[in-house]
Amino acid sequence: MVDDLLRRTPPDYEAVIRDYLGGQWNNNAPSKPLPHFERMAHADVLNAIAAAYHGKNCREGYGRLPGETGHVPWSMFFLRTTQGGQLDGTGYLVRYGNGPEGPLTGRFAICRHEFAPTGTREQSMRGWKPGYCRHCGLDMSIDSGD
Ligand SMILES: [Zn+2]
Repeated sequence: MVDDLLRRTPPDYEAVIRDYLGGQWNNNAPSKPLPHFERMAHADVLNAIAAAYHGKNCREGYGRLPGETGHVPWSMFFLRTTQGGQLDGTGYLVRYGNGPEGPLTGRFAICRHEFAPTGTREQSMRGWKPGYCRHCGLDMSIDSGD
């Protein structure tokens, strides 16, 4: 199982995410809806953006929600990264709204990552937690610097 994960090449989320954001790359709205989209309260999205590492990678674009067709308003995306700084294919969306409902906020995930540790107990006790996503093979290793 672990050997399979180590051999697997994870998706290039920098490239994959363009299919979902459109905007600055495609100059139009994407056709694919954001995967695993969940609406969130505005305050919770603001808090996530304010948290370290979640607000640093901001992109403009469009986010199509499941079931939407035609024109969609523009959005700002706050993309999450691995500790190594690579996009992990998840993030938050703040969609502009000029009506009484205001902005629409939520999160999405191209993959619902699930950490599979590959390190030893000794490594883990020193704060080094190597591992990969069970589903896509993304390197999710964490060095807590203990
Ligand atoms: Zn994954």
